[in-house]
Amino acid sequence: MQIKIIEVGPRDGLQSEKTFIATAQKVRLIDSLFGAGIRSVEATSFVSLTAVPQMADAADVLQQISRPEGSVVSVLAPNVRGARDAIRAGADELVAFVSASATHNRKNLNRSVADSLINIEAVAELASQSGTPLRAAVSTVFGCPFEGDVDVGSVVAIVQTLSRIGIRQVTLADTTGMATPAVVRAVCAGVRNAVPEAMLSLHFHNTRGLGLVNVAAGLELEIDVYESSIGGVGGCPFAPGATGNVCTEDLVHYLHEEGHSTGIDLDSLVRSAWLLEETLGRPLPGQVMRAGKRLRLYDAGAAPSATAR
Ligand code: ZN
Repeated sequence: MQIKIIEVGPRDGLQSEKTFIATAQKVRLIDSLFGAGIRSVEATSFVSLTAVPQMADAADVLQQISRPEGSVVSVLAPNVRGARDAIRAGADELVAFVSASATHNRKNLNRSVADSLINIEAVAELASQSGTPLRAAVSTVFGCPFEGDVDVGSVVAIVQTLSRIGIRQVTLADTTGMATPAVVRAVCAGVRNAVPEAMLSLHFHNTRGLGLVNVAAGLELEIDVYESSIGGVGGCPFAPGATGNVCTEDLVHYLHEEGHSTGIDLDSLVRSAWLLEETLGRPLPGQVMRAGKRLRLYDAGAAPSATAR
């Protein structure tokens, strides 16, 4: 299968970093991801600067990155003001978001789910006036750290409303790593049966080590768009216990080993992960960046052996 990867590291990955990362370093990371063949990047978000100070340079990042042919730079836009700023700054695509859990939505967006959907409708109007594509992400669909299991019916209701608004591309997001393959199958089946026109993509966090297993469940359902973070960096600032996304280079390594195509050069991608590790100055959770690809071989003579004295 041809799989599309949406790299969300620069946004989801970096948003909870305490120390401000210089704009030039963000730009260097995104450019290096493009260099590795990534074509969809969620670059930043136009959110409240007091809530997410790390994203204060959103417009500068968009202006300074060099965009290769065919690339799509998406940004998170929580409201009309953010969407307007994002369009002005040259975003190729907007991402509206809402949480399937009422409590998480209030924590993250400070309003009810119904109000968020009204707000998304206003963003959709602005997007269509300006001819900017809009997609949506629904968070905590596979579980909420405050409410536990999330009713599939409430996820369905949200995706139905999004469809009515005209948003077909919908990311089902596992904000705090509560998804398991069984939950993924149940939620995706429920949404697909009720809203067959929705084009689903999946966004997992590896909080409980189930990130790639959940991708495998998605692949069985023939879902072909996945969001992931370079080096596995990340975590939602408004969800306790949230850790990094599924790691992009681990995901690409897995997909290639399974015979899928991504258009991404894994060796270059690993270099992007090293670059980010150097920028952040701490080890990242990615595994292939350390272990190398499956067929990385070692010189037997140089490796220690049991009989060596
Ligand atoms: Zn996330």
